[in-house]
Amino acid sequence: MSSARLTDLLASNFGFSSFRANQEAVCRAAVDGHDVLLVMPTGAGKSLCYQLPAIARGGTALVISPLIALMDDQASKLGDLGLRAARIHSGLDRERSRQTSREYLNGTLDFLFIAPERLRVPGFPEMLARRKPALIAIDEAHCISQWGHDFRPDYRLLGSYLPALRPAPVMALTATATPIVQDDIVAQLQLEQPSRFIHGFRRTNLAVEVVEVSKPKRTQLALSLLTPAERRPAIVYAPTRKDAETLAQELSQSFSTAAYHAGLEPHHRERVQREFLTGKLEAVVATIAFGMGIDKSDVRTVIHTALPASLEAYYQEIGRAGRDGKLSRTILMHSYADRRTHDFFYERDYPPVEELDLIFRKLQTRPYHKDELADLLRAKLDGEIFATALDKLLTHGGARIDFEGNVTRGDAGWRRPYLSQSNLRMAQLDRVMRYAESYQCRMAQLVRHFGDEDDGRHACGQCDICSPERAIAQRFRQPDASERDLMLAVARALRSSGSKSTGKLHQELCAANGTSRDHFEELLGAMSGAGLLSIEDASFEKDGRTIAYRKASLTREGEELDGADTASVLVRDSNESASAQPAKRERKRKEPQPEIPLSADAVVLEEKLRAWRREESTKLKQPAFCVFSDKTLRAIASERPLTEEDLLAVDGIGPAKVAKFGAAVCAICAG
Ligand code: ADP
Ligand code: MG
Repeated sequence: MSSARLTDLLASNFGFSSFRANQEAVCRAAVDGHDVLLVMPTGAGKSLCYQLPAIARGGTALVISPLIALMDDQASKLGDLGLRAARIHSGLDRERSRQTSREYLNGTLDFLFIAPERLRVPGFPEMLARRKPALIAIDEAHCISQWGHDFRPDYRLLGSYLPALRPAPVMALTATATPIVQDDIVAQLQLEQPSRFIHGFRRTNLAVEVVEVSKPKRTQLALSLLTPAERRPAIVYAPTRKDAETLAQELSQSFSTAAYHAGLEPHHRERVQREFLTGKLEAVVATIAFGMGIDKSDVRTVIHTALPASLEAYYQEIGRAGRDGKLSRTILMHSYADRRTHDFFYERDYPPVEELDLIFRKLQTRPYHKDELADLLRAKLDGEIFATALDKLLTHGGARIDFEGNVTRGDAGWRRPYLSQSNLRMAQLDRVMRYAESYQCRMAQLVRHFGDEDDGRHACGQCDICSPERAIAQRFRQPDASERDLMLAVARALRSSGSKSTGKLHQELCAANGTSRDHFEELLGAMSGAGLLSIEDASFEKDGRTIAYRKASLTREGEELDGADTASVLVRDSNESASAQPAKRERKRKEPQPEIPLSADAVVLEEKLRAWRREESTKLKQPAFCVFSDKTLRAIASERPLTEEDLLAVDGIGPAKVAKFGAAVCAICAG
């Protein structure tokens, strides 16, 4: 179909004079009968990308959509344009649905909207298959993936019903899908060599900044960042309700600020939203719950006072800055302590598989009410852990529960999905951590994270990496003489070798002068920010594992680097950089884990266990932690296992430890 013809249809059916970015290419692929995966942010105009091809292809388009409100809205808009669009969903009466089915079979509809659960109604999929649709669109397609943030089990049905409705092209549309979710969508819907369009994640008016700063200093930093009036209105994201309250209190001494979190009364929350929208409040300090569905276009600054749990959440939150297109800033504060906090919550929220297994095995014999089950397992699973473990087991099908709270055994296949979910969560943490610690263009990293590799090659020119001189949360300085020498050495090394892994470069160039790896990476980052180097993520396979590394090469400018140029490279000047490196490494190892309080009895037991561990480690000529870590020792003391089976259930203990030390440990616990 010619370009002119598509533009004609656009004007005559929708009244639009031109396509928005990427719409035409998407429409063309679908008109030509290709399957399509389309990922573009909300508001980009995805609906048109299935509606126009549907009209161009003729016949009826089948649209699958998760929400009745969404369906009603789309259908009525199409109706207003003079197109025949009907819906079948649970909110409509039987006779209406029957009538719509007849119209579908007669071919008098342009669009039929259905909810996925319709496919479970006996006879309905067969009815659809009697007259094949001309195009199938699946809106909010990320709902099919349990890796997405809005998993809907009913979407799972689609994969098995689509083949009967072919040969129509299938289009999957969504605003949020990381590469994992994208692949999952393609696999589950069995899209055939789909054209993938992943666009629009770059925000050109956001200057993104990431700063390493210790927790106690963050309040002061947030306050000084927001003091100039032109940096407000502002949204500050804090990790806990308490943090939100305290910080809001602090900021409100200087400008009108309120806290916003799920612990507040609904009418109070509404008032905060309203006052922020109307400008009465200049700043809101919120936990993650804030900002959904509020559309304030002139937010100038978004600050995170702690490391977010995922890049998806972070991207969504910084995206609330600068909707009006004017330059806005976002600042993420983090330090290694943030990772520890996340690890703590991770351990709390994802109990070891063995703990889920305790419940699963118990359910083998007969159903239990959940309170009864909790009582039975109390010796092995603390109440809160039990609740979490049961919840995970229910989520992954290992147990079922009725309305009265009676639990029965589910499918044995729950372990794999649970483990992958738990691994995914860990990977998300690693990812956001890598982002915070990297020295590559922030926006380019985000764009690539959402799967747009092409666009992700271009630096933004505004973030703290691209434009350190404009950063507001941290100072940069000119490099000193030894740093300048090192940069020249990097340029020389790369000139002869082309490109090299940054680890190898560090080995070669820093062994003699003792520059730490972190500081070296930071210098490379500064060089890349100045346009002298390009640094790419790369990976290789070893023993079935993917090993990630970073590869540096010179840009054209870098090829010509001389001593004078190095002065223009700016290096981060924080007390946590350069000179403080060794201290930082120390800190990583030394900071204690958040601790579970022990009862008085347990403290006595812990001392006994510690004495035993000392003897044991002397006997074995091994360090004490090879016997049990402090954390494990503490866990044993708190749970006081009397049998080897109980001991196995303690966090951090595997069968090997039980075989080796089980009898001794249980004896101490019993004594
Ligand atoms: P998405 O599903 O990607 O969130 P929508 O499909 O709902 O976005 O479109 C958002 C808005 O953009 C709608 O109001 C739509 O009418 C409008 N729109 C889409 N394409 C165009 C276009 N080519 N020209 C003008 N407006 C458009
Ligand atoms: Mg949409």
